[in-house]
Amino acid sequence: MSGKRGLIMGVANNRSIAWGIAKAAHAHGAELAFTYQGDALKKRVEPLAAELGAEVIGHCDVTDGATIDAVFAEVEKRWGKLDFLVHAIAFSDKDELTGRYVDTSQENFSKSLLISCYSLTAVAQRAEKLMTDGGSLLTLTYYGAEKWMPHYNVMGVAKAALEASVRYLAADLGPQGIRVNAISAGPIKTLAASGIGDFRYILKWNEYNSPLRRTVTIEEVGETAAYLLSDMSRGVTGEIHHVDAGYHVVGMKNPDAPDI
Ligand code: NAD
Repeated sequence: MSGKRGLIMGVANNRSIAWGIAKAAHAHGAELAFTYQGDALKKRVEPLAAELGAEVIGHCDVTDGATIDAVFAEVEKRWGKLDFLVHAIAFSDKDELTGRYVDTSQENFSKSLLISCYSLTAVAQRAEKLMTDGGSLLTLTYYGAEKWMPHYNVMGVAKAALEASVRYLAADLGPQGIRVNAISAGPIKTLAASGIGDFRYILKWNEYNSPLRRTVTIEEVGETAAYLLSDMSRGVTGEIHHVDAGYHVVGMKNPDAPDI
């Protein structure tokens, strides 16, 4: 990936999936820039970026289009163009990541879909203008988009819409050589995941029932991301690539799994 420049959106701390991706892209030679959401996270993201010899180029809250514009203006000023972008952003009110989906409020539905789904389209609109030699956009999704998962609720609906967005964006941007893909990651203990009800149970369930009999790490997601962001995957777009220790192929509980 040497010679490639990418924007990483969604690092909150060193447990973030975006951090695993950044480390892998850096290890393969890419030059990176990071955004952060709000001053509290700036303090966490700055030292991480410095570890990779990268810069933090600004605050971006995807609910505020002006902050997205400012970040892309900064990318244009520094680099003139962009080769890849990682979108690892999602949010839903914690109170609605438990209990029943049917109880979702209109307010939280709109906010969750705006932050977790529309934001990919919002950044794609800006990235398109800078990906003058083609490029690769990557987002993160979860199996809860495909099947019901306990407590995932509106986030499952948002991820289903996000996965559809990947396909529509891939078709729109393909003629310019811009590829759009998603990694469907297995459950990983991160800040965002801690908001999901019974998350420890979900982790154990995946460990006992996935073909590899374990969960995945941010480093494993990162290595797959490096492939999707690099020219090694140049024939791949519109793809939802599972990095979940194979859990998505399983149709039934492993009869040998211990009780949780
Ligand atoms: P994380 O908490 O480390 O990252 C989530 C990021 O979203 C944070 O950096 C946060 O600042 C950002 N964000 C939230 N609202 C935002 C806003 N309004 N504007 C800009 N940024 C905003 O957690 P993570 O698990 O690394 O999440 C990254 C992505 O991976 C998310 O899309 C998540 O749904 C997805 N994912 C996570 C898992 C998992 O088990 N952890 C599994 C599959 C997919």
